[in-house]
Amino acid sequence: MYDAPMANDAPPPVANFIRTIITEDLRAGKRTRVVTRFPPEPNGYLHIGHAKSICLNFGLAREFGGVCHLRFDDTNPTTEDVEYVDSIQTDVRWLGFDWGANLFYASDYFERLYEYAMQLIKDGKAYVDSLSADEIRAHRGTLTEPGRDSPYRSRSVEESLDLFTRMRAGEFADGTHVLRAKIDMASPNLTLRDPTLYRIRHASHHRTGDRWCIYPLYDFTHCLSDATEGITHSICTLEFENNRPLYDWVLDQLPVPCHPQQIEFARLNLTYTVMSKRKLLKLVEGGYVTGWDDPRMPTISGMRRRGYTPEALRDFCEKIGVAKRDSTVDVAMLEHSIREDLNARAPRVMAVLRPLRVVLENYPDGQVEEIEAVNNPEDAAAGTRMLPFSRVLYVERDDFREEPPPKFFRLAPGREVRLRYAYIIKCVGVVKDASGEVVELRCTYDAETRSGSPASTRKVKATLHWVSAPHAIDAEVRLYDRLFTVEDPEAGKDGADYLALLNPGALERVTGTKLEPSLAGVAPGARYQFERQGYFCVDPDSRAGALVFNRTVSLRDTWAKIEQAGAGRR
Ligand code: ATP
Ligand code: MG
Repeated sequence: MYDAPMANDAPPPVANFIRTIITEDLRAGKRTRVVTRFPPEPNGYLHIGHAKSICLNFGLAREFGGVCHLRFDDTNPTTEDVEYVDSIQTDVRWLGFDWGANLFYASDYFERLYEYAMQLIKDGKAYVDSLSADEIRAHRGTLTEPGRDSPYRSRSVEESLDLFTRMRAGEFADGTHVLRAKIDMASPNLTLRDPTLYRIRHASHHRTGDRWCIYPLYDFTHCLSDATEGITHSICTLEFENNRPLYDWVLDQLPVPCHPQQIEFARLNLTYTVMSKRKLLKLVEGGYVTGWDDPRMPTISGMRRRGYTPEALRDFCEKIGVAKRDSTVDVAMLEHSIREDLNARAPRVMAVLRPLRVVLENYPDGQVEEIEAVNNPEDAAAGTRMLPFSRVLYVERDDFREEPPPKFFRLAPGREVRLRYAYIIKCVGVVKDASGEVVELRCTYDAETRSGSPASTRKVKATLHWVSAPHAIDAEVRLYDRLFTVEDPEAGKDGADYLALLNPGALERVTGTKLEPSLAGVAPGARYQFERQGYFCVDPDSRAGALVFNRTVSLRDTWAKIEQAGAGRR
């Protein structure tokens, strides 16, 4: 049984057509329980699109008191790898789901699938074809023209049985024969024009080794694996809609224990990224990113490293809903879910990304005050911490302009600002290096203005974050932007030129960032809000003395603005 990780934090389920189907099936007695499955092919790491499928399949099982299986659809030995098998399990667990004892591999069914194939041949419903792949394609016809029968279609059952047995025994080279279902070469549905069920592939499989040199194809494997496991609702993406008649045909020909119902839904697409594993693999292999878990990637492992939370991803998947028509979701909506979650629970800290030294001329040398700072204004239980304040500080370089433009209210010569939780300071001079760059600000502080003190009533137009220079610790921060420069990098012909659309500014590494001292001992995975700079997460590369943070997301929520505008219009 699988316990309910989302019991406390999940929003109430939104109605969708799959819930409606399942509810009706249970009510009508067509099904007595709900068994779903998530069936990844282990040929890459999971991405956010898979997260949608995982949340849907595991979520429905939980909701209806059923179970959800994790099944590896591992029928293609040349593209699959145990590295992917392992990463997929890690990612599903991290998302908060548990398959319990229900971990399956299609490769475990190879013997049984072979027996089913033999049965089809015996029943005259499958035959060994000896045309080449090109010839089979040429015989297939088009949407407007029927296909043509292969000359081998009329082969006797005995001959096909003999050939198929010898295919298994390894007597033939790759590509010399295939096993095809005998359905209808004139069917308006091209998937039903005698689809290939088995092909010869002399390749080692990551689980079955060299035991097999023939491998079943997806359309044959998937439905029979579902039936074998007693799946009730086989939920897949829309591109399999045309395959549904074949799914049903195979199950109707064979003495299977049950006949699951295939239901299709629209796959998730996100703006500014690609979602096909083939394309993501190219980014990894071509060195365009540092790996599958590069925080720029739309993979679950990349998002985890970047600091996204499983709660936020589940919330996003619930919010986008389940549709029957393909669409593309604005990545700003995903980021909105991330911000909402992190806003509620990420402790606030002060970090100066690009530091500019400030010397408070009238602050006693050697004096250190402890200043109380709120850990999370959204969470009273998070309490407060003490920050050291001293004569030499850092503020953000961007927060100073020697010649401030209109509406710039932060530091400038002669200007006053408040340092968060501390004092109002005034810029009384600047120090420049030989090249004319400002390297230090000379300021004074107003001792009467300490935050929280009764005398502190004076208002200024800007409040800046800061850290005390002698107490600060150094870090590297990695700032991220969209992976691609355009909303739909796959819009080009076959998405072929997507590599040319990669955003060269998607990663910016900033070294010499100054952090408040409370961050000295942070461990990878810890998440914070750096005040005014966004949410950050400690990277696995981080070491004591050489801290590395990833910016998960900035604070500016463009989605909230879109939503508000929408609400305004309604
Ligand atoms: P890709 O196109 O990235 O190669 P795939 O569909 O080939 O993906 P699988 O490993 O076969 O990858 O996918 C496992 C499950 O996840 C399938 O049921 C598939 O329908 C679902 N899935 C894959 N991509 C998406 C997506 N973008 N949105 C929703 N579900 C998806
Ligand atoms: Mg697939």
